[in-house]
Amino acid sequence: MCQYFGRDEECRFCDINEKLPAAARRGAAYVAVKTVDDVLEALAIIAETDHEAQAYTITGGAVTTDLDGLSEGEFYARYAAAIEARFPRRWISKVVAQALPPADVARFKDAGVRIYHPNYEIWDAQRFALICPGKIAPSAVMSGSAESNRQRRSSAPRM
Ligand code: SF4
Repeated sequence: MCQYFGRDEECRFCDINEKLPAAARRGAAYVAVKTVDDVLEALAIIAETDHEAQAYTITGGAVTTDLDGLSEGEFYARYAAAIEARFPRRWISKVVAQALPPADVARFKDAGVRIYHPNYEIWDAQRFALICPGKIAPSAVMSGSAESNRQRRSSAPRM
């Protein structure tokens, strides 16, 4: 799930928040936030049975305020840290997240992430405003300042 929620916030091309209700309608078991233990359990099966996989990607929706009391960088880094502690360098580790401040990128590196893929979505400022309305803040537009965006959002109601 992404904390940019609803037509005024979700990126126009994205269906991530629709996946959960769609899965529920199909009767499929699907949880919005996987626990670290569940991820490790799944990877243990993969480590035992798969000899093809070379990499894993940690990704999900944007954390605009906090999730489990963690910022987006902290939230995704904890998965990488747990995976790399259990399976050190078994796969190439990658995080796909928002364009985050340098401290979060350092956090990913410290957790063992080898590839950080920030989502800029679209470079053109006018199109960015149209396509990613939730990511727009007067002080953050195309400034690379996810931190200022987060500060703006931290005073907003939790989605
Ligand atoms: S921030 Fe990412 S997950 Fe959230 S709506 Fe935009 S593309 Fe989808």
